[in-house]
Amino acid sequence: MEVNQRFSRKRQAIYDAMLQSLEHPNAEMVYQTLKPEYPDLSLGTVYRNIKGMVESGDVICVGHVDGKERYDAHVHPHAHLACRGCGSVVDIEITEPMARQVETVARENGIEMDLRSLHFAGLCCKCKSETKS
Ligand SMILES: [Zn+2]
Ligand SMILES: [Zn+2]
Repeated sequence: MEVNQRFSRKRQAIYDAMLQSLEHPNAEMVYQTLKPEYPDLSLGTVYRNIKGMVESGDVICVGHVDGKERYDAHVHPHAHLACRGCGSVVDIEITEPMARQVETVARENGIEMDLRSLHFAGLCCKCKSETKS
């Protein structure tokens, strides 16, 4: 019964950890989360598995914070904002007019844009309200 060999226990654990996280973790964050439960897990294994998941489309890359790639296992079309204040990556739901706008821009430029790969940089709600006061 080696049918699910491709989905090893560790790979599954890595995927589950990413699915449960709402922080859009980087590889190190996933590694730190799983370390207590999988003491023999190496950071290299986490990197390798995440890379494989990105290639197979199970996980998407949602931008870089401090030079580190951040990932999301929630792959429905949504955009992301990387906050320059606190380094968090937050979800932005794509509204109908926004999707139409993206389509228009893509058509006018003769390009194709992936709605799951829209990244914005700026400040999250929390950081924005802190700078206002
Ligand atoms: Zn912030
Ligand atoms: Zn997301």
